[in-house]
Amino acid sequence: MGLLDAAITKHNVLVTSVDNVLNWARLSSLWPMGFGLACCAIEMMATNASNYDLERFGIFPRSSPRQSDLMIVAGTVTMKMAERVVRLYEQMPEPRYVLSMGSCSNCGGPYWEHGYHVLKGVDRIIPVDVYVPGCPPRPESLIGGLMKVQELIRMEQIGISRADALKKLAEKSADPKMVIQRERNAVSV
Ligand code: SF4
Repeated sequence: MGLLDAAITKHNVLVTSVDNVLNWARLSSLWPMGFGLACCAIEMMATNASNYDLERFGIFPRSSPRQSDLMIVAGTVTMKMAERVVRLYEQMPEPRYVLSMGSCSNCGGPYWEHGYHVLKGVDRIIPVDVYVPGCPPRPESLIGGLMKVQELIRMEQIGISRADALKKLAEKSADPKMVIQRERNAVSV
């Protein structure tokens, strides 16, 4: 901030594009909807607490979907709850983002085979931008996922669709097969 102050008081000119300014403003004020579905929500609450201090990224939960631009699906999505999740998603204004937190929300988690009452992935009812694996994911993992959402916002520009931005983001991210192999090697040592 000191540098920025100095630049302004010396009458310098900052040149950028409208896209960059808008994206910077949006990614620096990401407001997730404050709602949780099961045990993953406890980790989400811990991430919002003072130890991890999400507000330093401009991220803090809002209690209304109409003021939120990010939905963190934290927990098991039961069939009964699925309809409510869709309703909340539809109440959010565009542009909106969805982060799926934990195995339950990603693919049904421990209920994927015999849980007749559990949706096998929230992406069956709403579009998901970023998946965070784990049961439950640690706050550090959630922060990593939130930073991916910020990266996605930074990549979105006029003329570049969300799908293209997601593709670019996936290309930049670590190959999941390599990550699995590395973890297998670490376990076998
Ligand atoms: S992924 Fe694990 S911790 Fe998260 S809601 Fe499902 S069972 Fe609970």
